[in-house]
Amino acid sequence: MRAKSRHRARAVKPLDSVRRAPHGVLMSRPDSELVILCAPRGAAAPAARIPVRWKPSARARRVSLRVCPAAGEVVLTMPPRAGRRAGLALLREHEGWVRARLDALAPKRAFAPGAEVMLEGEAHVIHHDPAARGGAFLDGRSIVVAGGRDFLGRRVTDFLRAEARRRVLALVGAHAARLGVAPRAVRVKDTRSRWGSCAPDGTLGFSWRLVMAPRWVMDYVAAHEVAHLRELNHSPRFWTLVDALTPHHAAAVAWLRAEGPALLRVG
Ligand SMILES: [Zn+2]
Repeated sequence: MRAKSRHRARAVKPLDSVRRAPHGVLMSRPDSELVILCAPRGAAAPAARIPVRWKPSARARRVSLRVCPAAGEVVLTMPPRAGRRAGLALLREHEGWVRARLDALAPKRAFAPGAEVMLEGEAHVIHHDPAARGGAFLDGRSIVVAGGRDFLGRRVTDFLRAEARRRVLALVGAHAARLGVAPRAVRVKDTRSRWGSCAPDGTLGFSWRLVMAPRWVMDYVAAHEVAHLRELNHSPRFWTLVDALTPHHAAAVAWLRAEGPALLRVG
């Protein structure tokens, strides 16, 4: 589901098309890439790796750039027929301003003792207990993490991924039962372009990071992908199915657009 075209029916390509993209709930930065800007000659600043999203626009009259704080990236709006060279030139021209804006953003939030982690939209605190047994587990509003400090981040990630899988499977199971369908498999991964996906063979994929979002957001993504098991397109019939499965469509899309990018900056 692409933010701008989600209400447009997407033609289903032939089944023998190898490069056919899975249908799914796209993250809001499908076209990001890292552009490496070398430091100007004699400058003290090191080379910068600047995340750039190329945004084609049929209406734009000229190339423009802005910094998207949520995604922590530069958005280059490209009019028809504008080449990437023009975009890169504009980026170089405003490099100082761009670097300053990116530097001012909130840092990536690492998993650390005492740090807050959202679980289904509710804040939990990471509690490191080297003497505890088991990798990581819930204790009230704490996520208790056992073992050495070096493994804490990995253990919190594994814990959240397992929680995501458990919760996604329950939601997918409920929605699939209502439609009388069954996915071939359900995968939970650290996806970077889609919150959820449905492959032509019926395999569903989800980002584990959805477990940090409120439950109704995950519910919508699960309903969206399960509905693709009946309609592998974004036709009106597809959206009717989605809305029959979940009341959270509009709110969840808005939430993912506003808060989703921050989920990618955690861990
Ligand atoms: Zn979709």
